Amino acid sequence: MSVSKQPIIFCDFDGTITNSDNIVAIMKHFSPPGYEKIMNEVVGGQRSIRDGVGKMFALLPSSQKQEIVDYVMNTAGIREGFSDFLALVHRHQIPFYVTSGGIDFFLKPLLAPFDIAEDHIFCNGADFSGEHIEIVWTHPCDEHCQNDCGMCKTTVMRQFSPDQYERILIGDSLTDFEGAKIADLVYSRSVLTDKCVELGVYHVPFHTFHDIISDFGQRIGAIHS
Ligand SMILES: [Mg+2]
Ligand SMILES: [Zn+2]
Repeated sequence: MSVSKQPIIFCDFDGTITNSDNIVAIMKHFSPPGYEKIMNEVVGGQRSIRDGVGKMFALLPSSQKQEIVDYVMNTAGIREGFSDFLALVHRHQIPFYVTSGGIDFFLKPLLAPFDIAEDHIFCNGADFSGEHIEIVWTHPCDEHCQNDCGMCKTTVMRQFSPDQYERILIGDSLTDFEGAKIADLVYSRSVLTDKCVELGVYHVPFHTFHDIISDFGQRIGAIHS
């Protein structure tokens, strides 16, 4: 890792900080009619993430908000080693951002126990004032991204110049594909690992945050092998 550049971390939420993807879990559990087709089209690349996530949540009544939050709070687990990893990055003053394609109403309660500043969390919002849930896209793609991400990770990453920063992405899936292409280093799991292999992107596979601690700790000189 270049000594002249500041490492900066962009960490996915669903399936990365949490053990599994909460949007997938919510849809499977509440199972609104028609969600499966939309989800398959997103996974298959025939539909953008923004369009697909928006349409799937629009199938759920706003009145189910609390039930959804309770379900996620009771079922989502935090990946092993996450709090230790956060402690490491805080100790070494490494900027840490959560960059998530998830939605604030279930993401923020899950992250509440952790020491992460509000302005270091990028995710989508939701409006419950109508009959059905409407996703609010507060961080859309800039002019450099044509992916229709919803929450655009590359737009966030571009705010930090590659001349100055060593941009590190941690992720697992679809919402990380575009960010992985411009990151200097990717910690990957699940289908993101396959995508990195396909793209020829430099990546280090992980299972728990302890795996990331041992690799990243050596890179920043916090841990000696
Ligand atoms: Mg994910
Ligand atoms: Zn984008």
